[in-house]
Amino acid sequence: MTQAQKLWHQHYPEEIEIEKEYDEQPLHYFLEESARVYEKKKALYFLGKEMTYKEVYEEACHLAGYLQQHGLNKGDRVSIMLPNTPQSVISYYAVLMAGGIVVQTNPLYTERELQYQLKDAGAKMIICLDVLYPKAASVKADTDLEHIVVTGIKDYLPFPKSTLYPFVQKKEYKMVVKPEHSVDTHLWRKIFKSEVPAVQEVPINPKEDLALLQYTGGTTGYPKGVMLTHYNLVANTQMSVDWLYKCKKGEEVTLGMLPFFHVYGMTSVMNLSIMMGFKIILIPKFEVEDVLKTIDKQRPTLFPGAPTIYIGLLNHPKIHKYDLSSIEACISGSAPLPVEVIEQFEEVTGGKLVEGYGLTETSPVTHSNLVWGKRVPGSIGVPWPNTDAKILDLSGEKDAETGEVGEIVVKGPQVMKGYWNKPEETAEVLSEDGWFRTGDIGYMDEDGYFYIVDRKKDMIIAGGYNIYPREVEEILYEHSEIQEAVVVGVPDPYRGETVKAFVVRKEGSTLTEEELDAFCKKNIAIYKVPKLYEFRDELPKTAVGKILRRNLVEEEKKKLSTH
Ligand code: AMP
Repeated sequence: MTQAQKLWHQHYPEEIEIEKEYDEQPLHYFLEESARVYEKKKALYFLGKEMTYKEVYEEACHLAGYLQQHGLNKGDRVSIMLPNTPQSVISYYAVLMAGGIVVQTNPLYTERELQYQLKDAGAKMIICLDVLYPKAASVKADTDLEHIVVTGIKDYLPFPKSTLYPFVQKKEYKMVVKPEHSVDTHLWRKIFKSEVPAVQEVPINPKEDLALLQYTGGTTGYPKGVMLTHYNLVANTQMSVDWLYKCKKGEEVTLGMLPFFHVYGMTSVMNLSIMMGFKIILIPKFEVEDVLKTIDKQRPTLFPGAPTIYIGLLNHPKIHKYDLSSIEACISGSAPLPVEVIEQFEEVTGGKLVEGYGLTETSPVTHSNLVWGKRVPGSIGVPWPNTDAKILDLSGEKDAETGEVGEIVVKGPQVMKGYWNKPEETAEVLSEDGWFRTGDIGYMDEDGYFYIVDRKKDMIIAGGYNIYPREVEEILYEHSEIQEAVVVGVPDPYRGETVKAFVVRKEGSTLTEEELDAFCKKNIAIYKVPKLYEFRDELPKTAVGKILRRNLVEEEKKKLSTH
């Protein structure tokens, strides 16, 4: 028995099996089963409107039937470009039911980013918000896209908000369907008014068939599609159920603030809640005071989040005006969680704030502290049930000693099948016997708890978003007046890290910061645009001319510590 398994047995009841097989079933059976068991229970809450499990299931079936009628076949990729709304949940399960593979797309993507993703995935359909329609329509011609399904926030607003909506929303939310695109454009509300054939059950092999192509970067520039099977996601969801064993089926209320287009929100909020019959409070946009008000009124008991979310709430001047005592468990992931934040948050809410860890490639969770049991602040916790984890020493050739720093590697039913159409990149991180190299540097202590020390990858995590320096650098290099550019993450008290670009201009160039900023904003999503620019005459380099990125990071850290 591994140390992790011993710890689980020590702190968790015996009935929770640590070594078991998870259900070999399609992921969408979660919704089907909950619609049967919790039929009339509320599944979703969205800006005042509630939907029962039965309603969500019926709408998902209807949409699935419609998608099949319009040519969706088993294995076809469908992009979902939506914030957290009833449509994002309905679309997700509908695509799976129809036999498709979901491609989650960040609504903040620029046309260029969207085009790259749709092309790489070979997506045949996209489901997007009306405000994003012009973006989707404009890339249609250069991709395999055949159909665009368009929906609006208004489609699910309760009366009277729905009637007031056109007057209270900004004008930009109005959709203009250009005649040249109208052939392939399908309006959500018309779909639900039309008769469609019943969805045809598609046979799924859960361990082989993909449920999701989830894009993530890595250090190699443009994002890669992570292939996650139905079984990967079912297993990771069922692991989280064991981890939250005290939660009551059909009773809990989850705050759905983490975006479902990121694998963390998708598994730990959406799939978990739908499987367990919890109600999800859908938050399409993070506005600190609105979230505090929602917690006060809607009384969520579970609150998965990221450090910046908790820090944002704690720093709000009116936090003490609101009653946050309903919260029982908060799960923080995606970036290191400062210990002071745990203490302050637990004092304000009375609930537990527990740190976990994972990656897109692992569906995502592989480690966490125990909610009811030993918690070690500053540690990412212990490997989850049925998950093996160890540290490879920095040479990469043998296992590290206890306490020795090396790369974290993991193995388990949640580890991806590979990267889409990228066998070489897959072979670099995934061994034949199933060990996945995370690229994160850390160590394990004598009790089997893991700690993150640094990231092997140069990825920047700013405000919960992952930013890959190479991608931003490539855009900078496209500017005709730039000779050299390097992008690094610099510490930021609120966003965790922020993006800084060091730039060497070509001789004679008078390029200004404002011009460069405008150039970046045109080409990359706003969260990737550097917040800081520094023009230099030259950049530090190794003997072979490789830019010493780490030196620049260290310089920035030093500057901050001497201030
Ligand atoms: P993603 O693929 O977007 O889920 O990003 C995965 C990366 O987020 C990991 O490789 C880590 O570098 C980072 N990460 C996730 N959880 C934590 C954590 N608790 N502490 C530090 N870094 C984390």
